[in-house]
Amino acid sequence: MNGNRFWPFPSESDSVLCPVGVLDRDRGLPTAGGRRIVIVGGVAGGATAATRLRRLDEYAEIILLERGDTISHATCGLPYYLGGVIERRESLLLQNPDSLRRRYRIDVRVRHEVLRILRDAREVEVRNLQSGEIYHLGYDHLILATGAAPVRPSIPGADLDRVFTLRSLPDIDRIMRAATASPGGRAAVVGGGFIGLEMAENLARRGLQVTLIEAADQVLPPLDREMAALVHNHLRQNGIDLRLRETVTAFEPGDKGSLVLCLRSGAILSADLAILAVGIRPEVQLAAEAGLALGPRGGVLVDENLRTSDPHISAVGDVAEVPGLQGGTAWVPLAGPASRQARLTADRLGGLPVRYRGAQGTGIVQILGLTAAFTGRNEAALRNQGLPFHSVIITANSHVGYYPGACPITLKLHFAPDGKILGAQAVGADGVDKRMDVLATALRLGATVDDLADLELCYAPPYSSPKDPVNILGYVAGNVLRGERMVDWRQVMSRDPASTVLLDVREESERQADRIEGSIHIPLNQLRERLSELPRDREIIVYCAVGLRGHIALRILEQNGFRVANLSGGLRIYAAVREDMKHTDPAVGYCM
Ligand code: FAD
Repeated sequence: MNGNRFWPFPSESDSVLCPVGVLDRDRGLPTAGGRRIVIVGGVAGGATAATRLRRLDEYAEIILLERGDTISHATCGLPYYLGGVIERRESLLLQNPDSLRRRYRIDVRVRHEVLRILRDAREVEVRNLQSGEIYHLGYDHLILATGAAPVRPSIPGADLDRVFTLRSLPDIDRIMRAATASPGGRAAVVGGGFIGLEMAENLARRGLQVTLIEAADQVLPPLDREMAALVHNHLRQNGIDLRLRETVTAFEPGDKGSLVLCLRSGAILSADLAILAVGIRPEVQLAAEAGLALGPRGGVLVDENLRTSDPHISAVGDVAEVPGLQGGTAWVPLAGPASRQARLTADRLGGLPVRYRGAQGTGIVQILGLTAAFTGRNEAALRNQGLPFHSVIITANSHVGYYPGACPITLKLHFAPDGKILGAQAVGADGVDKRMDVLATALRLGATVDDLADLELCYAPPYSSPKDPVNILGYVAGNVLRGERMVDWRQVMSRDPASTVLLDVREESERQADRIEGSIHIPLNQLRERLSELPRDREIIVYCAVGLRGHIALRILEQNGFRVANLSGGLRIYAAVREDMKHTDPAVGYCM
């Protein structure tokens, strides 16, 4: 095997990952010899691993065990089925046991639950949920793709009929029945993560009045505070009753089958149904009982080969805690990573020399016409890790302003002092996905901010601008690396007027509409003539609408000997946070 150019991992311990039988030394392909691969879980991770493995190995015996009724269903589509965007339930069923049997010769056993892993015997104990029969099934290699389960907090009344969690088709069927029975009714969504936001959007789409309750001071934890503020304001403008820093202390039965929600603040809400979307936890019970190592984030720990602490067992998808692209371990319970990890595990079993290069955490969510997306680390993660970093925020149009339909996109970039990209976030109504995919690719390939400035991206008026927002992000970040000083909204809110002057360089009409209290005003076009009005003993913080005119003002002032900083993201970001803060309970106050 050492001489095989397709298989560079010839060690004894690796031999189990190598084929399903013996490698054909000439072609690097597995030959007949039929080892048995058992896969637990039949959705994104399990079904992908099974089908990829079959494409690599005609001779393996592949058994897929799924305790539910369906396999390979589109979990990510469930909220949109509720909202009526996906009209037919059947559209969510991407494969069925029969289609996998016929096309891939996979032995699919739905309603079969794995109860135990007997590692010494290399067997799993399985219950046929239809017949009640319990049997043992041997394996040469076991793939755990058991996913994650919604957390159901121990709130009194959380088990009432109209309090739902969402993970599966039967879950959405139950929610659909309750929503259909309450046309124009009220829904409470508890939790402002991806699933909570998608459910809020789709319940609203069905015509329900939605209250979104979130314990933290922001929704979408991967976003930084000001990026989340853009989402908060949008939710409120679109009729969602957003309650931040609020928790449900009890659910109680109300009139005519409705629910009463008691909140920590003392408020009482009435609702026809409630969705609990307060998080998920990896389904590690089987693995933990079998003594497999778990990671610090609670998932089944795997190495770069997606192998658990038992070399005969791999784990993929939401159950797995994988190496992080930027070091440490990562738990990224999303469909893309699940699918890639599954394919890679099958590749390894099929004898291909691949390794998992780590999860970076890239996500996107649609919220009532707005899109929020992110990749890599956010401000909190970078601070927790004690890493030095810079951040910039820009707002640019999705395509040239003169072509109809242009919408602003706000982009935020975190980067290291050597320019390496560490993380990015974006919020906007159009074109967010494409910018985030470029940034996620750049991060994965180890790019720097100057690489972003250099990217040659496609342009025609309907799609972008000659300077794409990603290029502009690179220019602005490059300016910071070369010494331009930026301050953020926090620094402006907490600035010391004795040592700083706030200078608004926008036009008078813009200033009439809004301004930052305490700022002085010199429109950019008058700045060169009015330099004598500015103090030389204090730092000047310039601001404009989004940061561009602020940058021009900064260049003028710096070259005239002033100490200057530009407000990152301009008034747009500052005002978004200020607006958001108005809704924060004044009794609680706001922490910066
Ligand atoms: P799962 O899909 O959870 O599948 C695990 C399967 O294992 C389950 O069917 C379960 O029944 C089975 N199982 C567990 N234990 C056993 C056992 N002991 N015996 C037999 N079978 C067992 N991700 C995105 O990237 N984008 C999105 O837009 C997105 N939207 C989502 C919306 C919703 C409402 C939800 C719930 C999730 C969403 N996700 C999204 C997450 C995505 O669905 C998951 O990351 C993905 O399904 C994980 O795949 P998996 O195979 O690891 O686990």
